[in-house]
Amino acid sequence: MKVVETIKDIREAIKGLQLEGKKVAFVPTMGALHGGHLSLFRLAKKHADEVVVSIYVNPEQFGPTEDFGSYPRTLERDLEFCEQEGISVVFTPSDEIMYGIGKKFMSIEIEELNAYLDGGSRPGYFQGIVLVVNKLFNIVQPNVAVFGQKDYQQFQIINQMVKEFNHDLSLVMAPIERADDGLALSSRNAYLSNEERKKAPLMYQKMKQAVNKIQNGLLVPKFLLEEQQQELEAKGFKNDYLNVFSMDRMAPVSQLKKGETYLIAGAVYLGKTRLIDNIIFEC
Ligand code: AMP
Repeated sequence: MKVVETIKDIREAIKGLQLEGKKVAFVPTMGALHGGHLSLFRLAKKHADEVVVSIYVNPEQFGPTEDFGSYPRTLERDLEFCEQEGISVVFTPSDEIMYGIGKKFMSIEIEELNAYLDGGSRPGYFQGIVLVVNKLFNIVQPNVAVFGQKDYQQFQIINQMVKEFNHDLSLVMAPIERADDGLALSSRNAYLSNEERKKAPLMYQKMKQAVNKIQNGLLVPKFLLEEQQQELEAKGFKNDYLNVFSMDRMAPVSQLKKGETYLIAGAVYLGKTRLIDNIIFEC
């Protein structure tokens, strides 16, 4: 496994693989790797001959009051995981390498898809993601890139970016990897106290209940989700959003059509930890 830090080195490594006729899949991460990341690596391997991973905590996607400073950084352990998973190349750029050139010409606006969910709650978040993923795609130029359903809105925005910027790659979405009690795996779960960790799966349980009730025609989403939110608040969660969204426009929907597919997605704070999760379901 090669671990490279510069753009020249990663380009040489990828070109070498592609010249040998190998198909390259790319999995961008912020490190603090967990089972969710590993499932992406394994899926990537099914879509390509070689898997390239980036580990970079992107400062551009954190707001001024968010957790950039305390985000878990476990590079040594991450590299061991990558080695065990048969990753070919790991790209670990510095901020200087990613952003040293400055941003004289560029400003990213996202016209659609960004108004709700995390785009609505975290100003500048997806602008930062589009910036870094666009740069990473230009640097790595993979044949395939894999992202998780856990960040469904991110997948949709990147999918649109790939089309608008004509990136020559195909995107693959990996299902959400969960702990035995249903909690979606996340690097931020490391922030949870023991007591918070025990409570944390409740958001997923409430979302599953909501899906069940919707599928059985028992309640309309708006009313139903207010009830779910109240139940979460009563257990000490602070709600950011919990709603049913359209799969393509990422906007809340209150009139559901039978046979259509929707996304129920939520974000809550448990103490200082922000947790997100979602379920794709058919009505
Ligand atoms: P991150 O390191 O948190 O930026 O995540 C890197 C990639 O892993 C993103 O495409 C995420 O959607 C994906 N990911 C994070 N958590 C999970 C999970 N529990 N299951 C599947 N994919 C995940």
